[in-house]
Amino acid sequence: MIRIGQAGIPLSCKGRTNKDGIAYTHKNLDLNAIEIQFVRGLYVMSDEEAQFIREYAQENDIEIHVHAPYYLNLAGDSEEIEMSYEKIIRSAQMANNIGAKTIVIHPGFYGEHGEKKTLKIIIKNLKKITNILKKEKIKIKIGLETMGKQKVFGTLDEIIEVCRNVKETIPVVDFAHIHARGNGSLKERADFEAIFETLKPLKLKHYLLHLTGVLYEKGNELYHLPIKRGDMPIAPLIEIILDNNYNVTLISESPLLEHDAVYIRLQVEKAIMKRTGKEEAYYKDLSEVT
Ligand SMILES: [Zn+2]
Repeated sequence: MIRIGQAGIPLSCKGRTNKDGIAYTHKNLDLNAIEIQFVRGLYVMSDEEAQFIREYAQENDIEIHVHAPYYLNLAGDSEEIEMSYEKIIRSAQMANNIGAKTIVIHPGFYGEHGEKKTLKIIIKNLKKITNILKKEKIKIKIGLETMGKQKVFGTLDEIIEVCRNVKETIPVVDFAHIHARGNGSLKERADFEAIFETLKPLKLKHYLLHLTGVLYEKGNELYHLPIKRGDMPIAPLIEIILDNNYNVTLISESPLLEHDAVYIRLQVEKAIMKRTGKEEAYYKDLSEVT
């Protein structure tokens, strides 16, 4: 199954609440996923809105993920770690209320620690957090994003290592971040295939994938670009997904949000048509492809 959506309330949606955003994603865009953004400080959502979102998503088969506040540091000083716990647990509670599958986080920075020590600290702190969530009966996966800057914890290998050690965590593969960190490393099919190969030991049944164009310099992400303006191709990725019948959710994190989500959808449908030889395709129907 292929799910497609965008990170946040669509730009073209007049209403600016998450409730408006999910309804618009379904009704106006006919997309079936959304990553709701709790990214600025501690976000507050009313119970009424949370209930609407949960029920709406269930009735209309929309998959929800949540993005926790950007600034977290599970390898920082005790104050930063405390702040990170609070933000993650608070976001996880709200994410749970709206029926989200995953809460996406940026785990932290190397700071003064070396890479290995940072890895150990992050594993230790994430174990504590997942234990707290378990006690609170919050069944949600913590998604660890691959990060696009050299000084930020989160190469693909590091993220996988954490996921191997902490139950209830999954990788969130941000291709643009991997591309930027590798100074433009994702060029062709084999480059994307290598990523899925590396992920294999985790035996994932579903992949949460972030897509955007990206501008980078010396192995560091500068900022996101519309997909078409970036130099990372998405067609090889789509081919791999269809060839392997991967169960994926593709989230557009481009500055064009839903416009690029729809662009991704069109590329998927073009790839389906190429396979079936028909002049029509629908991304939700892969019956003739696999
Ligand atoms: Zn992120």
